[in-house]
Amino acid sequence: MSHLQLVGISKTFEKIEAVRNLSLEVGRGEIICILGPSGCGKTTTLRMIAGLEIPTSGTILAGGRDLTRVPARDRNIGLVFQNYALFPHLNVFENVAFGLRARKQDNVTIQKRVHEVLDRVQLGEYDTRAVHALSGGQQQRVALARALAIGPEVLLLDEPLSNLDPTLREDMRDQIRSVIDDLKVTTVFVTHDQGEAFALADRVAIMSEGICRQVGRPDEVYSRPADAFVAKFLGKTNLLSARVTQSANGKSILKLAAGFTLEASVPEHVSDSAYVFVRPENVLIAESGHKASVVSTRFEGPVVEHTVEVAGVRITARQFHHGKRPLAAGDEVHIQIPSGQFHVLDNDAE
Ligand code: ADP
Ligand code: MG
Repeated sequence: MSHLQLVGISKTFEKIEAVRNLSLEVGRGEIICILGPSGCGKTTTLRMIAGLEIPTSGTILAGGRDLTRVPARDRNIGLVFQNYALFPHLNVFENVAFGLRARKQDNVTIQKRVHEVLDRVQLGEYDTRAVHALSGGQQQRVALARALAIGPEVLLLDEPLSNLDPTLREDMRDQIRSVIDDLKVTTVFVTHDQGEAFALADRVAIMSEGICRQVGRPDEVYSRPADAFVAKFLGKTNLLSARVTQSANGKSILKLAAGFTLEASVPEHVSDSAYVFVRPENVLIAESGHKASVVSTRFEGPVVEHTVEVAGVRITARQFHHGKRPLAAGDEVHIQIPSGQFHVLDNDAE
């Protein structure tokens, strides 16, 4: 049973269609990440859920209740921004207490609740500090505590790690995950960073140009992208142009070049002009298979990346080397692209 439902929501600013007909269901306690490049409509989507923007069309429901036109202050939603947006003139305690005071809670409740959430984000001793005296990571934890203090029905986070040092980001990411897991609060998290999305989310929604391209578990969208945009956005990939030449008993021949073909079942919506999608880690360098010559090699510590050419087609392969010496440019090898490890995408998808 889904908790938060976005039903065909759109938002148009003058001429810009920031979000187009977006539908998304978030289960109770689920963490959904909206992932996409800058300008694709992530923040606008969050602002609509929060009530800071009214959709041009579509409906937003939480627990079955229509929130579409409910003012932000009457929605029970916690919001964390990229830039923390703390109140600079208030100390840590008062920042976290803000939403409770606005909801006219009594002092005893406020004291208890603020200390609970500050302890939860490991800032129990910081209640009397000025917020400007805190590090970026601590400020973001205050912002998280402030969002959680009201016991929100839905937690929204807009690129909460983007302003932090890379070294701190991973640590903060794990802390956020553990707090959310503990509280089991329904969460929508926005980022442009696929690593962050994969590490935090139960499911990922990939957006581009206001459109949701695919929703799925991190492993699903990574291994079975719906289109070439998703394939490219989620990490290194080979997208090899191919002609779908003939088909028999459900299988088609994909012609990548003269003398270089693969056999696969091709989804119906794919035209004659297709992409063979294969992640570099699924291209195997082997004793037999397609004849290939090594173009270049890059040693990356645990893995080695070889760029090879098969009948003039460039393909990247990445493998653990287990201490074996990398191949050198000019070496003649074979590669295998096992069936099930590559998929056929339409070439017109973008
Ligand atoms: P993201 O968060 O993915 O970077 P946004 O949701 O902020 O993207 O923006 C999506 C698009 O909508 C962009 O083209 C942006 O310029 C535009 N946009 C966002 N807010 C407004 C606004 N208040 N007025 C006009 N255009 C806006
Ligand atoms: Mg944004």
